[in-house]
Amino acid sequence: MKKRLDLKAYQQGILSGNRAILSQAITLVESTLESDQELASDLVQSLISKTGQSIRIGITGVPGVGKSTFIEAFGKMLLDRGKKVAVLAIDPSSQLTRGSILGDKTRMENLASDKRAFIRPSPSGTTLGGVSGKTREAMLLCEAAGFDVILVETVGVGQSETAVKNMVDFFLLLMLAGAGDELQGIKKGIMEMADALVIHKADGSNLELAQKAKSSYQNALHLGQESEKSWNPKVLLASSTTGLGLEYVWELIREYEEKMKGNGFWETNRAQQRLSWLDDQIHELLGQAFFKNSQVSELLTKEKPQVRSGELNPGTLAKTLIQLFLSKN
Ligand code: GDP
Repeated sequence: MKKRLDLKAYQQGILSGNRAILSQAITLVESTLESDQELASDLVQSLISKTGQSIRIGITGVPGVGKSTFIEAFGKMLLDRGKKVAVLAIDPSSQLTRGSILGDKTRMENLASDKRAFIRPSPSGTTLGGVSGKTREAMLLCEAAGFDVILVETVGVGQSETAVKNMVDFFLLLMLAGAGDELQGIKKGIMEMADALVIHKADGSNLELAQKAKSSYQNALHLGQESEKSWNPKVLLASSTTGLGLEYVWELIREYEEKMKGNGFWETNRAQQRLSWLDDQIHELLGQAFFKNSQVSELLTKEKPQVRSGELNPGTLAKTLIQLFLSKN
């Protein structure tokens, strides 16, 4: 049986930093039931003034690069520095199998067992907009619960990075030395999004290779961008096994925060992100209402075969459906 509390119980639980209630509230936010969605949106709105104080960090890289291990080691280091850390892992559940690749995620066990940390794998919906919408709300709830560093992990190698980039302050790309960009499946666009690139697993016999990779990536990135925010993406070495570089990564993020708060980019970026969230929400809610409309779905079912066979122009049917939808609302 799914537990559902009332608004006040969620609010109080979250504001007192109760991790179990925070977790239930995120489940509420992810629910597709209309009544849950209403309560979730009231909850987020009621806590909005308690949000925004954290540093939001996106972490990406191909499977196997060591994201979980890095997040665990990095997260522990932050706890030692007195931070409270929340991890939101975007789980790109296969749309084919509906399987969850994070379902068996026991790798961040140490971090998860610490009271000052919170780890939440979020299932992705059928749309990417859905993912980013829910993850943003989950992030705000974590902030209201007092977590001051939010790590958003993404596992994909494409669209989900764009969605995450659009909700964080700092975007970190983990890479391996010597594997080659293409081999790692890293698209150039993703490298260009990164505020820092970490050559991970820089330990043992890998260290020398990692050092070489560092200078070549640094050169490549310098050619790529000197952006509106006046920040040259940095390349660092790190090992989650030995702990090398983890402190530097944090120092770099703090340097970035200070610089961006100083030049105004921090707030401009967040303001822009809020507007793009609004945009996503409008699209999503409109889409939901549209497809739920019985007359729309009736006509859609009836006319789909004609579109499939090529007799009917999809644009023409879409227009007719939208007119029908608007006339009924
Ligand atoms: P993810 O798929 O990106 O989350 O990667 P994992 O965190 O599961 O790590 C993949 C593999 O790399 C595991 O076998 C880890 O033990 C190993 N690994 C992770 N971090 C390091 C590191 O800093 N150094 C070395 N040598 N191995 C690591």
